[in-house]
Amino acid sequence: MKETLRAISALLGFEKLNRAERDYLHDANIRTSAYMGVIAVLLEIWMLFRQIFYKVIPRVEAGAEPFGQFVKYTSKYWLFLLIGLGLTLFCTYQRKKKISKGQFAALMTVGGLCVAYTAVLSLESFTRVSESVTPVMANIMNAMLVSIYVFLFAIGVTIVAYAWLRYRKNRRVVFLEHLAIIGFNLVCLAFGVYVSYSDFWGGKEIICFLTMVIYVGCLLIYRPYMTLLILGAGFWAFHAVLMTYQGGLSFAPNDVVVHGIARQVISGDSVNYWTFFISLSTICFAIYHGRLSEARKSEALIRTARRDRLTDLYSYRYFTERAEERMRSAEEPLSDLIYLFIDVHNFKAFNDQRGFEEGNRFLVAVGGMIAELFPDSLYARQADDHYVALTKTEALPTRLEELNRRVHDYDPEIRLGINCGGYHPAGREEDPRVAIDRARYAAKTIRNRFQDIYAEYDEAMSRAYHRRLYIVNNVENAVRNGWIVPFYQPVVRADSGKLCGCEALARWMDPVYGQLYPNEFIPVLEEYRLIHRLDRAIFEAACRDLRNALDGGLPVIPVSLNFSRLDFELMDAVGELEALTARYALPKELIHVEVTESALADDFLKLDEALNRVKRSGYALWLDDFGSGYSSLNVLKDYEFDMVKIDMRFLQNLENSEKAKTLLKCVVELADQIHMQTLTEGVETEAQARFLKEIGCSRLQGYLFGRPVPRDALYDRIARGELILHSSISDHA
Ligand code: C2E
Ligand code: CA
Ligand code: CA
Repeated sequence: MKETLRAISALLGFEKLNRAERDYLHDANIRTSAYMGVIAVLLEIWMLFRQIFYKVIPRVEAGAEPFGQFVKYTSKYWLFLLIGLGLTLFCTYQRKKKISKGQFAALMTVGGLCVAYTAVLSLESFTRVSESVTPVMANIMNAMLVSIYVFLFAIGVTIVAYAWLRYRKNRRVVFLEHLAIIGFNLVCLAFGVYVSYSDFWGGKEIICFLTMVIYVGCLLIYRPYMTLLILGAGFWAFHAVLMTYQGGLSFAPNDVVVHGIARQVISGDSVNYWTFFISLSTICFAIYHGRLSEARKSEALIRTARRDRLTDLYSYRYFTERAEERMRSAEEPLSDLIYLFIDVHNFKAFNDQRGFEEGNRFLVAVGGMIAELFPDSLYARQADDHYVALTKTEALPTRLEELNRRVHDYDPEIRLGINCGGYHPAGREEDPRVAIDRARYAAKTIRNRFQDIYAEYDEAMSRAYHRRLYIVNNVENAVRNGWIVPFYQPVVRADSGKLCGCEALARWMDPVYGQLYPNEFIPVLEEYRLIHRLDRAIFEAACRDLRNALDGGLPVIPVSLNFSRLDFELMDAVGELEALTARYALPKELIHVEVTESALADDFLKLDEALNRVKRSGYALWLDDFGSGYSSLNVLKDYEFDMVKIDMRFLQNLENSEKAKTLLKCVVELADQIHMQTLTEGVETEAQARFLKEIGCSRLQGYLFGRPVPRDALYDRIARGELILHSSISDHA
């Protein structure tokens, strides 16, 4: 029973619709109203020509005064033309975000004219009683006419009010839109009744009425109960008017006598009349339900495109669209607006410890916190644990503090927190994606500082940011034009101080920025996953240099090459190296592969296979930066290294710290016991070198023996005797 009632109420359109569905139906009505307006305009233009040709011209030719005739026979048509025009403009501008001065003026003119015109016409028809009809009829006809004028007057007023609110106050006014199109409906119905009745009186068919109800019924679709009401009222009114005819009219297909002339009243009977009403209403119902299901489908589609599936915040793409709109709308001063990029600090640890499900729940919770603390903002989840927002600068620090506190309190055991970057847009036309990228860059500058939660993009960052972009965009160029070259830093034997190798360190000789250092470009290239392009170029250059040394009878110095973790992912790194040694016919013991400890600490990527291949292929495998991370010992256990490069931070404070000395000594002994050789980096003083020699470290590298220099500079130093070759090198020569 309940089900049936619900179905019936849904059929009649009593169900509650959400905003998107209402908007969809309203939009459809606005669109069809625009067509209605255009039809009205065309129709009235045609009618005006007809009136002029068939009524005005013959009478003027017969000697009547032209202007009087023109007014008499065309005045009503002008009014309808005006209304049609008003409706068309109104519906067209409804789609605009903001209406221009010209559009405002057009609406005001048309609306104002309607108001004035209908006021005059209705006053005039109040006092006029047509002589051609019976007194009852005359009253009905006049009442119809006046009601048409009242509706038209109301439409005129609505258009004026609408133009004013849209332009002056910049507000959307949906209820006025409803008012205007419902008003137009009523005008059409009343007009249909009016004209058809006078036609009928004159012995013609009621075609105009039928045309008008179809016009209204099929084009403008409201909730079915509304449709029933509007059409029902129309049919009922016309029926009632017909019944006044000679004291009541049965729709009998008999001839009736009007003014003594026999006429066929109507081509249908009462049954047909109401059948027409039922059919038309049914069509309207069908269209309504069809539109509603379209609305639901499109809403579902739009929703998936607009929402982030996990948090139900906006998707990043939709955020950028909305942000663009908000910037352009110019409702808020530009200086009040700021883009934020919010990164959750330590989320990875949370995920690892609490599990994926909990991690997801946490991300949803953070979305909720942002929604609560930034209610007047646009916000979205960009990806992973990154959120973005376009918000007001007002009370920003306190809001961020609060967000940080809530994130932290979510699970106090894990040091959760936020890292937020802010960027003030420089102009309204700025691309939100670029703005967010800058905010992200600002956030990154404080990524590893737990106590700082906010950084704003400034001049210095801007310069650095542009350098980064430059690096990313020009790495191909740099490789192709030979701007990327290896510098070589000598490695010496600790016992003799003699040269036993060198490390190839990349330098970017840029025509714009001058010499760039790896600390700047390596992290950027890794982030953008372009590092392998550079490494391939360095490997090739180093191999070429070795070949030239072999061919030119110069000392051949073994070189160690830095492999990024990503090299193994982004290219077949070992394969590339094999190809190069084959192409340049190099003995493999001339090349050492350096892999950093941090590359191996990441257990997501198993490098075992690749590193075993390095060893099997005959290259020495060196562990770089030992002691710089936190999983050093495991790395020693899991892989077979030929050499451990001890990170230069072990040398800090060496002179006056017994502890540092002991630590370094233990590391060297440890390596010795598991049959790995040691090389200490960053040796800058004689004292350091002496100590390292004492504790049995076999090789040294550092500014004390030489900075990284171009190949020729290295050979110059050898030639000058500043560097003396170790005997095994001389063997190659
Ligand atoms: P790394 O492999 O640990 O290289 C040693 C870095 O320490 C070099 O910096 C070197 O110039 C510097 N250094 C050497 N001796 C001393 C010293 O006595 N005192 C001090 N303070 N520093 C010293 P550089 O050339 O700037 O390279 C930085 C890092 O960039 C390298 O660290 C390496 O991880 C990376 N890198 C350099 N070239 C390449 C490359 O071709 N490919 C890859 N993937 N990474 C590279
Ligand atoms: Ca290295
Ligand atoms: Ca190193």
